[in-house]
Amino acid sequence: MESRHTSRHTMTIPPGLVEGFTTLYGTPPTGVWSAPGRANLIGEHTDYNNGLVLPFAIDDRTWCAARVNGTGVVSVASTAQPTRHAVAIADLDQARFEGWSGYALGVAWALHASGHDLSRAPGVDILIDSTVPLGAGLSSSAALESAVAVTLNDLWELGLDRMALAKAGQLAENGAIGAPTGIMDQVASLFGQADHAVLLDCASLSTRAVPLSLERSGLALLVIDSTVKHAHADGGYASRREACEKGARAMGVPFLRDLTVADLAKAEAILDDETFRRVRHVVTENARVLDTVETLASSGPEAIGELLLASHASMRDDFEISVPEIDLAVETAMEAGAVGARLTGGGFGGSAVALLPATQVHNLTELVHAAASDRGFATPAVLIVTPSEGARRDQ
Ligand code: ADP
Ligand code: MG
Repeated sequence: MESRHTSRHTMTIPPGLVEGFTTLYGTPPTGVWSAPGRANLIGEHTDYNNGLVLPFAIDDRTWCAARVNGTGVVSVASTAQPTRHAVAIADLDQARFEGWSGYALGVAWALHASGHDLSRAPGVDILIDSTVPLGAGLSSSAALESAVAVTLNDLWELGLDRMALAKAGQLAENGAIGAPTGIMDQVASLFGQADHAVLLDCASLSTRAVPLSLERSGLALLVIDSTVKHAHADGGYASRREACEKGARAMGVPFLRDLTVADLAKAEAILDDETFRRVRHVVTENARVLDTVETLASSGPEAIGELLLASHASMRDDFEISVPEIDLAVETAMEAGAVGARLTGGGFGGSAVALLPATQVHNLTELVHAAASDRGFATPAVLIVTPSEGARRDQ
């Protein structure tokens, strides 16, 4: 059981990282870089429909201590993994990546594969440390990719902007790991700002920092990780993507993003019931993202609860990706005085995000644990997630 109630992160370089690097590579690092994990406030299953998402960078981060070496080889080691991996820059074309190294060395490959000239790039030694829990839905993968991307961008003097680095991270995940993920996680990790969310338009790849003003409002964000992943998660994800493509085709648009709420009457008339409900989720979710941005600006975070709950209901009833563990977490959060709560992530298990008065964090955690126990569910891990600064050089 994991339950963290206090803001435990100093957001400073983990003790032992610099010393660990020196022990491993025999010489101190010349710099330390870091990038955060992320959570999504609203905008679920909209990314691959070219739609809108509103994630934020969290205070858990992945760090890279690094130094140029004279060998033409990029080496990566991680405190979270037993194996060390390396690739010669000259061999990136034919490189194949084992295990976790695809997330790190895969970024070097992605920079090369996307046409950046690495012929004069020196070798680099990297030691990675992280406070982002692995596989808990907070995108430790994007945190790692983004941390490596900013490290290599600086040490190789590539001068790439943050969107180019986000694309390299996504390409590493798609091409070196083989996970068909969108660009949201990397964008959140690279563009995040303290007390802000990042509005990303997946069609234009434009981003906007959206003030959250949580502290001023006395509110906090929690991730309630059910720790459950249902067996049909991958198949369910694929079938939702197919339904969206089918719906867009039938409606004569390239992406569901190109529909508005006004098109739903026609969609209902021509689509089968299930496809219609999938389409309605995506179309209304895009609208809710924009509503959330507007409501934050006009009325502050205490006013977005209805939108979070509507998003959850839409995922539960129309997109059918929630599970009893997550529905219970959302209901219990509301009973404990949350402003709003919803499933976050791909669904079929995973996590809920809840917005609540900071004074209620402890109470809500207890209630969520008790409710899960009453129903015989696994004990959820409850984490405070504080919207934080994106990737940066720390030292
Ligand atoms: P999530 O991104 O939700 O945390 P993923 O399955 O996408 O889950 O990514 C987790 C994987 O990323 C891990 O299994 C590991 O291979 C890799 N990874 C993440 N963080 C680290 C790290 N600090 N060191 C080494 N590998 C890591
Ligand atoms: Mg991931």
